[in-house]
Amino acid sequence: MSAPQPNRIPVIEVDLNATKKRIHPRFITGFYQNIRVISMYAFLALFLILPWLRYNGRQAIWFDVPSQHYYIFGMTFLTQDFYFIAAFALIAAFTLFMVTVYAGRVWCGYACPQTIWTHMFQYVEKLVIGDRNKRIKFDKQPMSANKAFKRFLVYFIWFIFSMITATTFVSYVSGTDTIYQSWQMIGFIPFPDWSTWIWVAVFIFAFSTYVNAGYMREQMCIQICPYGRFQSVMFDKDTLVVSYDYDRGEPRGARKKGTHPDNLGDCIECQMCVQVCPTGIDIRDGLQVACIQCAACVDACNEIMDKVGYPRGLIRYTTERQLAEKEATRVLSPRLFAYLTLLAVLCGGVIYALADRVPLEIDIRRDRNQLSSTNAQGMIENSYVVKLTNKTQEAHTYKITLAAQDGLSLQLRFNDVPLDPGESFDMSVSIQGDPAVITEVQTPVTLNVVSEDGKYKVSKQNIFTTQGQ
Ligand code: SF4
Ligand code: SF4
Repeated sequence: MSAPQPNRIPVIEVDLNATKKRIHPRFITGFYQNIRVISMYAFLALFLILPWLRYNGRQAIWFDVPSQHYYIFGMTFLTQDFYFIAAFALIAAFTLFMVTVYAGRVWCGYACPQTIWTHMFQYVEKLVIGDRNKRIKFDKQPMSANKAFKRFLVYFIWFIFSMITATTFVSYVSGTDTIYQSWQMIGFIPFPDWSTWIWVAVFIFAFSTYVNAGYMREQMCIQICPYGRFQSVMFDKDTLVVSYDYDRGEPRGARKKGTHPDNLGDCIECQMCVQVCPTGIDIRDGLQVACIQCAACVDACNEIMDKVGYPRGLIRYTTERQLAEKEATRVLSPRLFAYLTLLAVLCGGVIYALADRVPLEIDIRRDRNQLSSTNAQGMIENSYVVKLTNKTQEAHTYKITLAAQDGLSLQLRFNDVPLDPGESFDMSVSIQGDPAVITEVQTPVTLNVVSEDGKYKVSKQNIFTTQGQ
């Protein structure tokens, strides 16, 4: 263990050798652990349930990559709506930055998938093998039938969890029907009848889950995840972090129950804070990059303080300003207003864009082979391909018209274009121009599309040309 640090934040070095040993954290309960468990299982339930929700008879959240249609409840997005995804990603990123500046790594401790899955996999080990001491002893035991069976059972349950995770993940893209209904009987065993890409995707996600949560665990947070590193540079004196109260705890040392020797601080050197830590660090060394701010050490130390009759909070959520400088934390800062303003602008922009969005799209492409031609009646003709996309969740029939203009008329193969929800249709149309009226080389033309109920209307401009005659 390195020498204790005074109450200063941050201490961000990582002792990579010290973090390489297998960690068997002790499971505890407590105020923060209860919040953490509720939060983790809520996120897990959300992940598992969301693909099963239905809206208007279709999977409510479905990123149908092969057809490039992305459904989120009543809204259909196409690849060209990618700016919405970018805006959502920006909002999520800035929210995370703002939360990190004030509440530290709450995402890591309470909601990160790596934390949640690692917790679940460790819980399986606890159920099958036992708590921390039993697991450490179990690791050192020579191989036996009992050990082999328990190991197999742990690996098997991990495998089932990994498969559920992978199939759920892939079902957001392929659809739950494809994943859970395409099965065939091989003999009397049901077997998935999936396409190659689904097999590959399920294998990759199942393998990643198994390795990350079963073996990589805290190494992922300490050595690979870039987010943990750059969060450390976002901390300031007013960031809420889990800290050990060095002034109160030191000098640490064991003592007789019910006593408090004058030459010792409040830390009784029980090591409980280290034993419960999922990343295996000692918070008394100071804030470290490896700390995911799960507050397990807070709950553990509070329990010990209750037992020895000392006040709670030797390890607690606090800020450097409070802990080291004995001043009140400053929440209102120019940085907070900058983040709030940015978020308000981004959220306002997205809400406005969503409210203003017409769920009907028209795209017009000119016939590249021939700019214009003259037909048997002596009219100049321009050909186009009009692509209509119904981005609503209901079927509609659309009518295409040409904005009234002297000397121009629209020729269509169909007057009405019926489209199912999310369906696109390419249609060849031509515009005919009377050469006696249309004398300009280029004339702007506008096509209007309207749904049968008049609810959705869009227009698009293109050019009518007499070039190529
Ligand atoms: S749990 Fe509290 S008392 Fe025990 S070693 Fe950690 S800081 Fe000291
Ligand atoms: S030091 Fe405490 S808060 Fe940080 S990861 Fe370990 S147990 Fe969680």
